Amino acid sequence: MLNCDCLFCKIIEGKIPSSKVYEDDDMLIFKDIAPKAKVHLLAVPKTHFALLSQADKEGRVMLSRIFEKIPQVAEQNGCGDGFRLVINQGEAAGQTVRHLHVHILGGETLGW
Ligand code: AMP
Ligand code: ZN
Repeated sequence: MLNCDCLFCKIIEGKIPSSKVYEDDDMLIFKDIAPKAKVHLLAVPKTHFALLSQADKEGRVMLSRIFEKIPQVAEQNGCGDGFRLVINQGEAAGQTVRHLHVHILGGETLGW
């Protein structure tokens, strides 16, 4: 279910534009507007939930499909040499958008 106050739900609905690189029934993957690496993509489930702990069964299925799909999409977008996945969970970790998302970072040699 989508959440009308959520930025990423608005992007999923097409109400806010994004640079999509992949979409199917379960997920949208698009370019981060403020990239922290040469390639910086965001993978979001189409069901709205803020935190991993709030994923229901449908959300957990979407997440497993996201992790299945990421290697292919990352490779197609310049991360053939490797990539890093990040989930910021909660304010203390720097989460600013409360719709669970996986950061895909790469396209260059990353420092730790
Ligand atoms: P987080 O801090 O983990 O919640 O990550 C949120 C990410 O969303 C940040 O890296 C932002 O740069 C990114 N972001 C915010 N607004 C947009 C937008 N309109 N389109 C694409 N990425 C966005
Ligand atoms: Zn949302």
